[in-house]
Amino acid sequence: MADNKNQGGFNQLPEIHNKSLRGPQHLSEHADFITSQPSEIKSIKDGKAAAAEGPKDKLEYDPQYILQVRDLKKHFPIKDGMLGRVSGYVKAVDGVTFNLKRGTTMGLVGESGCGKTTTGRAILRLSGEKTAGDVLFNGKEVYDLTKKELHDARTKMQIIFQDPFSSLSPRMPVGEIIGEAVREHNLVPKAEFNDYIDDIMDKCGLQPFHKDRYPHEFSGGQRQRICIARALALNPEFVVCDEPVSALDVSIQAQIINLLEDRQEQFGLTYLFISHDLSVVEHISDTVGVMYLGNLVEYGETEDIFRNPLHPYTKALFSAIPVPDPTVKMKRIVLEGSIPSPANPPEGCKFHTRCAQCMERCKHEVPVQREIEPGHFVVCHLFDDAAEA
Ligand code: SF4
Repeated sequence: MADNKNQGGFNQLPEIHNKSLRGPQHLSEHADFITSQPSEIKSIKDGKAAAAEGPKDKLEYDPQYILQVRDLKKHFPIKDGMLGRVSGYVKAVDGVTFNLKRGTTMGLVGESGCGKTTTGRAILRLSGEKTAGDVLFNGKEVYDLTKKELHDARTKMQIIFQDPFSSLSPRMPVGEIIGEAVREHNLVPKAEFNDYIDDIMDKCGLQPFHKDRYPHEFSGGQRQRICIARALALNPEFVVCDEPVSALDVSIQAQIINLLEDRQEQFGLTYLFISHDLSVVEHISDTVGVMYLGNLVEYGETEDIFRNPLHPYTKALFSAIPVPDPTVKMKRIVLEGSIPSPANPPEGCKFHTRCAQCMERCKHEVPVQREIEPGHFVVCHLFDDAAEA
């Protein structure tokens, strides 16, 4: 799969920090997965079917994980007519399961509209009630928290948005933007407030004497630093980074990625890094989940996924990564058609309408997750025979 291995896009960026700088991360420890069918996990390696707990059992807290997500679903009703009758549901997230270890980064990739952002927002309880599933943050079900408990938990779970301009109030000076929630949560004594904000700005590469300026007076990269400073000022443990660099120039992307990595090392942060930029995800992530139409179709350690992508969708996605070598001929796999509507997903394997390797059974049978190598899982009928062999 050498052709699919990213050899470059992001390597061209200046002064990207070496991954080894990022603290106590041993990839082999991150193999925790993820499936659309958690009760049907099958292992090819040991030839055994390892049944996980069914989704109706109570999800048990495992302290090594800061976040445990099981069979999370978020469906949005489609309302028609004057009476607003519900005529269907958009299944934006349709059964996502994964565990995330402290101090690590999980990349979430997939086409636009596959449910990445909705997954991140549903984990943080930012989109109303969930449809089904469990989200344990430090052992507590996020959707069972009272208003007061959720308010307190907000300091520990933060989000950095894609567009640094629209997520900043144009009428507030930067110092106020960064400090507003700090004040709201009484995180520091009044007498120390200014020094605290100066310190956070400094750590995020912003000049503290700029705190009286307004967002429009900053560049795109600086505005994203302000967003990061606003999130980090609350001393979070877990941050959803929703396409945090996709609106920025390539050179600025490198600075922001380095900043995120430095802060992770310094504060032991855990990131869920949502992006469609595979080069960035390869650089920053310890584990990667590939989403298609509301489900995870492949998951594993970053090196395994990029070295040996298995699912036909992952292969097509990764074949588009540019290789900065004119002598290398790219074998681009072009997918036919566009992603189907999550309001009316295809039966069987949801990818079957675009898959070049589609078989008859794919049109009717939903594939189950299988472990192909330790910690590397895929949801595809192509691997059924290997499991039975
Ligand atoms: Fe393609 Fe079938 Fe695998 Fe789906 S299950 S990805 S249609 S081969």
